[in-house]
Amino acid sequence: MDVSTCAPATPVAGGSLQITVVADSDFVIQLTPAAKPLVEKTTNAAPKRTRVVQFRVSRAVLQQHSAFFQTILGSRPNLANVTFENKGNGFGYALEIWLRALHNGAHTLPNNLKATHIERAWVAIGVGEQFGFAPHHIDKIKPWFLECYQIALNNGGLTPFIACCLAFPCNVFNHAEGFMKLTKYLAYHTNGNIFTINPSSFHGLNQDARTLDGPLTTARAHIQSILDKELNFALDKLHQATCSCRKETAFDYVDALRALDCWPIDRAVQKYPLAEIIDELEKFEFTPKSINCESGACAHDFKDSVNIAIRKAKFAFDGLCLDCMERSQIEHVDAQTRQAFLDKNSPFKGCWDIDCRFGHGRASWYYSWMGPSSVRRDILSRYREEKKALGITKGGRRSRRGPRVTKDNSVVPSARLAAMSVKTQASGGMKNTTSEQENNDHEDKYDHDADEDDEFFDAEDASVGGHTVTDDADVLDHDDVN
Ligand SMILES: [Zn+2]
Ligand SMILES: [Zn+2]
Repeated sequence: MDVSTCAPATPVAGGSLQITVVADSDFVIQLTPAAKPLVEKTTNAAPKRTRVVQFRVSRAVLQQHSAFFQTILGSRPNLANVTFENKGNGFGYALEIWLRALHNGAHTLPNNLKATHIERAWVAIGVGEQFGFAPHHIDKIKPWFLECYQIALNNGGLTPFIACCLAFPCNVFNHAEGFMKLTKYLAYHTNGNIFTINPSSFHGLNQDARTLDGPLTTARAHIQSILDKELNFALDKLHQATCSCRKETAFDYVDALRALDCWPIDRAVQKYPLAEIIDELEKFEFTPKSINCESGACAHDFKDSVNIAIRKAKFAFDGLCLDCMERSQIEHVDAQTRQAFLDKNSPFKGCWDIDCRFGHGRASWYYSWMGPSSVRRDILSRYREEKKALGITKGGRRSRRGPRVTKDNSVVPSARLAAMSVKTQASGGMKNTTSEQENNDHEDKYDHDADEDDEFFDAEDASVGGHTVTDDADVLDHDDVN
C-alpha cells in the first residue's frame, strides 16, 4: 500500500474532519463529539477533537480484522457509514492508529499519532477491544507501542509511576523484554499494593491488569524472605555459640542493622521498597567488640554475611516471563495430555527459561505460573527427583515424592540456545552432556545450594532462583564465610 494513501486529516465543509485512511474507500466510520463535556488534561498539548471526525476506510479490511464489524456489515451489506460517540481523551487518535495500521501498516502512521503519552497505550487497548481489533490483531500496532514504550523510558527514565503505567500494556502487546524488566522493577522498587496505574478512562481494563498483583506480591515476599533469612544467618550462628560474648555481639549486630533502618526486615519493607533496603545495606559496617571470643562465633565476618544477603536478594527475581505465563495457561491442559503439558513446562537440565524470549531463573518461572498449582508442584517434584537420580542430593535432605520421568537427552536445538540469556548461558546450564560425570559437574555448578532452595519450597511453597543466584557462589557463601 502506498504511503500516500495515508493522507493527512483535512477539514471539510460543515466543520467535520475527514481522514482518508485508504484512497479507494467504500465505508465511513464517523465519530461524533462526546455527549458530555470532556475534562482533558491541560498537559496534553495535542489538539482536541471536539467536532465530527470521518474515517474513510475499506469495508473488507474492517471485516477481516474485527468480529464486531463483521456483525455490523455482514447483516447490512449496503450500509455506507456507521457512527460512534467519540469518548474523548485520545479515543479518536486511537481509532485512527488502529485504522491506519490495519489498512496500511504501522510504519505509515503520521507523526501526530506517535505515542508521546503513556495514556495512549491504554486507550489504544481499550479502543481496540471496543471495535474488536484487539486482542487478535494487537500485533498490527505493536511497533507503535514499542515506540511509545521507548519514548516513555527515554524521557523520564524508569520510575515506579512509569512501571505501574506500562507493565500491563507490555503484557497486552506481548512485549516480553519490557514486561520482564518492568515487573522486576515493580517487585524491587515499590512497596505498596499498587502495581498498576491506568491513566485512561477505560476503567474496564483495570480488572485484567490486576492479574499482575498476585504474582508480584508473592515475588516480592520471596525476595524479602531471602533477605530476612540471610541476614538472620549470623544471628543463628551466635545463638548456637557458647561464648559469653555472643549476646553482646548479637545485640550489636542487630543494632548496626537497625541504625540503617533495615531491621527488622518486615518493618523495613513497610517503609521502603526492597531496592532501597538493599542499597542501604551496602553501608553496613560492624566490628564485634569481643576480642578473645573462645567460640569463634564473634569473629564471624559480618560484613561478608550482609554482602551475601545483598547479592542473593538482588538476584532472587528476574521479573515475570510472558512466555512462561502463556505456556502454563490453564486452558492448555484440556487441549493436550497432562504429560505433554508437564513436559512443555518443565525445566531442561536445570534451565527454567527454555523457549523463553529472555533468560531467567526458577523464581521467574515459578511466579509466572498461570496453571494449576498442583501441576507446578509436580514439575518441581520431578525436577528434584531427577537431581536425586543424578546423585546430587548433597547430604540426602528430604525431597518430595513424585513421578520419575526420564528426560529426553536430545541435543538442544540451536534456536533454543540462541533464545537463552547471556546470564543463563554463562551458568553452563545449556551445555549438552552425555556422561554422568559431566552431568554431575554441571549440576553442581548451577545448583550450588539447591538444598537450601528446596527447604524454601517445603517451608513456603516458593522457589528460589537457585542457579542464577549461585553461579559464582563458591567464593561468596555463608558456608565459606564461617
Ligand atoms: Zn563470642
Ligand atoms: Zn520464561
